[in-house]
Amino acid sequence: MELTLPAHPGFYMEFQKNVSLKNYTTFKIGGMAKYFFKVRTKEDLIKAVNTAKKLKLPFFVLGGGSNLLVSDKGYDGIAIKIKNEKLKIKNKNKKFKNIYCEAGVLLGEIVDLAIQNNLTGLEWAIGIPGTVGGAVFGNAGAFQKSMKDIVKEVEVLDAKDLRFKIYDFKKCKFGYRNSVFKRKKNLIILSVVFKLKKEKKSEIKKKIKKCLNYKKERQPLDYPSAGSIFKNPSGFSAGELGEESKLSSSPFAAARQGEEDESSSSTIAAAWLIEKCGLKGKIIGQAKISEKHANFIVNLGNARAKDVKKLINLIKKEVKKKFGVLLDEEIQFL
Ligand SMILES: Cc1cc2nc3c(=O)[nH]c(=O)nc-3n(C[C@H](O)[C@H](O)[C@H](O)COP(=O)(O)OP(=O)(O)OC[C@H]3O[C@@H](n4cnc5c(N)ncnc54)[C@H](O)[C@@H]3O)c2cc1C
Repeated sequence: MELTLPAHPGFYMEFQKNVSLKNYTTFKIGGMAKYFFKVRTKEDLIKAVNTAKKLKLPFFVLGGGSNLLVSDKGYDGIAIKIKNEKLKIKNKNKKFKNIYCEAGVLLGEIVDLAIQNNLTGLEWAIGIPGTVGGAVFGNAGAFQKSMKDIVKEVEVLDAKDLRFKIYDFKKCKFGYRNSVFKRKKNLIILSVVFKLKKEKKSEIKKKIKKCLNYKKERQPLDYPSAGSIFKNPSGFSAGELGEESKLSSSPFAAARQGEEDESSSSTIAAAWLIEKCGLKGKIIGQAKISEKHANFIVNLGNARAKDVKKLINLIKKEVKKKFGVLLDEEIQFL
């Protein structure tokens, strides 16, 4: 289904030149974007994309910048920061409610709305920074759950033909940290409808507390980072990675514990592989492989993207050498 562009009185678009992207990422790393648009409406977005076409420059869609490593050299194109922020409950069915949410809304805000309205299905998202658009793009998840469990439909702007389109759940083609939006960069997510179930508030709060405590205990939240650098690889059998992989603290058990979603009995925690290579605490420049969680690289203050990349390459090399496993990055690069 295609939606027509509604008539809209007046634009609101912030347009700037040479903007430091460092301040728009949770890593606090990165150079300048040549142009920077903050878009709040559909019309803003069309203008931004048209400007890119006119100037023959590439564009990059920026959400909360929490899964992103921006090059020290910056971006010779147009960074489009999604800032639409409408959020409302759509229907009042007895068992389920639909939440309409624009892509620029922070995940924390929609979790709050769900708690207030006694809706379950989003507890796992507590503590994940970033926007709803970014979370749908990468099918963000934790504790065996992900966006794919609650998304009903997604509205996009197709930058190729400048039409607004609705992607129903099936068309989103969600997979482990994957979606059609990740594969087709011409699709810019504008809004999402979530389907959530009713639940007692006390139960929701209990689940949220459990998820938060788990994260606080295991993640280096005191330093800037982009979350887990690598995806958890899968397709391995117990014992394949040596005797240690049979223990209760094995890579399989660690992955199943719920830090990542969709882990099966063959999924290995990337953090375990990195730790077993003795890489925890390794520092290059001002970037460090966290001692608390080996799949996090933290910025000790003034880390550069090139330091982080060196650590990423070192991890990939050592894990491949020791286990024969090639890790795949979860974070996006600009
Ligand atoms: C402390 C910490 C903990 C984290 N924990 C988790 C976790 O438990 N689980 C998890 O999955 N992730 C986690 N993350 C990673 C990150 O928060 C998520 O991946 C988040 O969903 C990214 O959203 P964002 O808006 O910040 O996206 P950005 O980082 O801004 O962008 C990521 C990608 O999405 C694209 N994108 C963003 N918005 C749109 C849009 N509207 N339309 C089209 N494309 C878009 C961008 O172009 C980019 O390629 C964590 C990160 C941190 C820093």
